[in-house]
Amino acid sequence: MHPWHEVGDGVFIRRYPFLDQTIGAITGRDRVLVIDTRSTRLQARELIGDLQALTRLPWVVVNTHVHFDHAFGNGAFRPCEIWSHAGCAEAMRLHGPSQRENVVRWVPDLAAELNDTVLDPPDRTFEEYAELDLGGRLVELRHLGRGHTDHDVIVRVPDTATVFAGDLVEQGAPPGFEDSFPLDWPATLGHLLDRAAGPIVPGHGDVVDRDFVAAQLAEIALVAERARRDWPELAAGGYPALSPPRPLVDDLAGLLGWPPPVVSEALSRAFLQLTGRT
Ligand SMILES: [Zn+2]
Repeated sequence: MHPWHEVGDGVFIRRYPFLDQTIGAITGRDRVLVIDTRSTRLQARELIGDLQALTRLPWVVVNTHVHFDHAFGNGAFRPCEIWSHAGCAEAMRLHGPSQRENVVRWVPDLAAELNDTVLDPPDRTFEEYAELDLGGRLVELRHLGRGHTDHDVIVRVPDTATVFAGDLVEQGAPPGFEDSFPLDWPATLGHLLDRAAGPIVPGHGDVVDRDFVAAQLAEIALVAERARRDWPELAAGGYPALSPPRPLVDDLAGLLGWPPPVVSEALSRAFLQLTGRT
């Protein structure tokens, strides 16, 4: 039996233990759309083996965003079309090597595999919307605004009402804020909810529903609201955007149930937005 779970007719997910990642595969009559390519050439080859146990259709790929665990496996899938927001391809060209260096420091066990991986930016890019015909099935790719990054893409399968959210939605862990835009993220999730009637597949963790996304939207909105409320006074006092005050961090961490370092990073990114530096 293949290791994929069917969340809608011909819409599959496969979860991998590394970072609890969730990969998507959507089959049409003529080709299969693979959503994200994992972290390294080796991890991508494992995914390709799993994909070939599911279908012998030729593939086309979409990257939800540039983070290594979603896009660094691209090279193993060539030759094929690889789709993304234009900002994802640009970010990989400009910042891929430095992202790789950061990950090597963060996950030393992955260093050899990462250094053996050729970064391969997407070649089919768009700004707001693209549509893919998989053969008897249209799939929508949309950028709904800034959130987890400035170029997140969701994948919607209209005939099954399934939405792949990338890391705009995170299950099993708090959202990732390192490259985020917390002031914009809630509105972006609102646009996602406008288009989601069925299962919502996060970039990490288990499939969720609209209520889960609405709750995560409210959590991020709380961060944004506190940042907007407190920043003018902090800025007037010469407080640096990159080190939010401990009492504010602890208060929000208690309310949200997130680790203080996550809250601190979220607030820092919100403060940076309020300074106009991002
Ligand atoms: Zn990410």
